[in-house]
Amino acid sequence: MKKEYDIIVVGAGPAGSMAARYASEQGASLLMLEKDRDVGYPVRCGEAITKRNLIQFIDPDPKWVVAEISKFVVYAPDGTEVVFDFGEVKGYMLERRIFDYELAKTASTAGAEILTRAYVYDLILEDGKVCGVKVEYRGEKIEIKSKIVIAADGVESRVGRWAGLKTHIDFRDMESCFQVTASNVNAPQDALQFYLGTNYAPGGYFWVFPKGENIANVGLGVSGDHCKKRSSLSYMNEQMEKFFPDASILTQVAGGVPCSVTLDEITGDGIMLAGDAARQVNPLTGGGIGSGMIGGSIAGKVAGEAIKKNDLSLIHNYKKEWNKKRGKLHLILDKIKEEFFKISDEEFNEIFHKMIKHKPEDRTLNKLFMTALAKKPSLLVEVAKVILI
Ligand SMILES: Cc1cc2nc3c(=O)[nH]c(=O)nc-3n(C[C@H](O)[C@H](O)[C@H](O)COP(=O)(O)OP(=O)(O)OC[C@H]3O[C@@H](n4cnc5c(N)ncnc54)[C@H](O)[C@@H]3O)c2cc1C
Repeated sequence: MKKEYDIIVVGAGPAGSMAARYASEQGASLLMLEKDRDVGYPVRCGEAITKRNLIQFIDPDPKWVVAEISKFVVYAPDGTEVVFDFGEVKGYMLERRIFDYELAKTASTAGAEILTRAYVYDLILEDGKVCGVKVEYRGEKIEIKSKIVIAADGVESRVGRWAGLKTHIDFRDMESCFQVTASNVNAPQDALQFYLGTNYAPGGYFWVFPKGENIANVGLGVSGDHCKKRSSLSYMNEQMEKFFPDASILTQVAGGVPCSVTLDEITGDGIMLAGDAARQVNPLTGGGIGSGMIGGSIAGKVAGEAIKKNDLSLIHNYKKEWNKKRGKLHLILDKIKEEFFKISDEEFNEIFHKMIKHKPEDRTLNKLFMTALAKKPSLLVEVAKVILI
């Protein structure tokens, strides 16, 4: 470990590894620091990713793909089932403890140095400018300087706050999730299953995602304001009892997913935020692996360029680039989410009853959206508002 780098990345999740890879590819000297002992572990994730988001960064590999997804099965509150069969692979179930590790390897191949068990406990600030990090490593407290720090330290990010950025997120946008990886769960290996309704998970959904023969990630997310009344764990216990009373629990995780629009400020003097730390999760689905990789890759590219051109002010282009690629879309998805969760259980049931009247080949996600639109025309108004600004 040197005493100074061009760039330091805090956190070796998907966003951090992509930032490290793309900045290193441009010749920047870079150190990525991860507080945990292993990159990729512990896993706090349902592990589903779309094919489109994945393949722009890495080719699917059987080492870490546990299932290929070609269907969504969605359940209305009254149990009505609608199958969306895409007829081709549209997504993957990952083994994230291996996947994250492989992503970090791509960063190291590009030239990044990586250290685990390296806990960043503060920033080095000079006249309000971020100039490096303070790290606890092997019992020692060390200061490492850098021109840019990229904070990819996940949902509980503190680095952005230390730098003076406003990282606050509304409580109701924070999904409180609980998930188990369970065996004795018979789930189709080619489908992601979603259950909608206040009885399953108010302001969110209950999911069953395949993880191999007889194993699945079973979880749910409940929006923050509902959790005040009843915890996500309590909903989870009820669903497990109802659907999988014979399941054996192999792992269990609890965690938050920031289902909001991206933070207003994702750069400051010498600092950039990426992934969950920047609130780059898809606000409608809660998927943050792919969007975090996209955010991280843009942050890394922009930071690498700023170093190459010796002009640190260029890091502020990051927000514009992110907005072009994803940020604007997230504004729309956030509006859809707002309206979507105003739909009552009875209305959901009606929408699904209409859907099953269509021929299976006509049951598309677009059709679901259009059917929901007929029930909630305000959806369109909200979406139009975002598109038109
Ligand atoms: C229950 C649950 C289910 C989910 N399911 C899905 C899903 O199916 N699909 C999907 O796309 N998304 C899902 N998500 C969201 C997804 O897990 C995250 O959006 C994604 O991991 C974000 O990547 P990241 O790199 O920003 O952060 P993370 O993956 O959280 O990585 C951040 C890293 O920073 C490290 N770190 C933190 N602080 C410090 C520090 N001070 N010093 C050094 N290192 C530090 C952490 O140890 C961690 O390794 C789920 C989330 C939860 C909680």
